[in-house]
Amino acid sequence: MNKDNVLNVINKLPSNLEVCNSILKKLNNNSTKIIEMSAIKGNYYSFINDTIYISNVSKNASDENRVIVIAHECIHSIQNKVVQLANTVISNLYLMLLLVTIILLFFKIDIIFILFPVMLLNIVVREYLELNAVTKSKDVFLDYIKEYLSEEEIFNLDEYFSKEINKAKYLYFLKIIFDKLWPFLTVMIINYICFNIIY
Ligand SMILES: [Zn+2]
Repeated sequence: MNKDNVLNVINKLPSNLEVCNSILKKLNNNSTKIIEMSAIKGNYYSFINDTIYISNVSKNASDENRVIVIAHECIHSIQNKVVQLANTVISNLYLMLLLVTIILLFFKIDIIFILFPVMLLNIVVREYLELNAVTKSKDVFLDYIKEYLSEEEIFNLDEYFSKEINKAKYLYFLKIIFDKLWPFLTVMIINYICFNIIY
């Protein structure tokens, strides 16, 4: 099945809001709120207010991934709350420490050794949450579509998304490392210049 065929099948499914509601019900999640927004391009789950934000492009949209992406966000909503909280705290701590490291350079204080383990921890926790959601999204997706599509269509979508999920796992894995690493490397270089060249 190619992308266009997949899109044709996906467009037989209900709107994003309906899809999201049904998947949350299937996952026995009655507490997470859904906010439909036209302004946001991607879909995401916010742990802070237990809300899934989804774009309101409904039928005939051009995104063949829309349903599996919603399944992914719904999985985030039922992931372990302690890990979710840890992820939020560590991500914010990391951002704060990046800033503090730069500020302390003016006072000739070097705390880059604290920044590195926090970055590593941030990567590990984030990788766990994302790879868990990516891996489980296909099963949740297949379970949802079985009420709407024929056996042949389900078989074809299973085959198509198995390959896509395998690619997505590597992309997520690398993207998370890249997103966390480049601010660290930037601060490390500034730190190095200050302590070895300027001071
Ligand atoms: Zn995710």
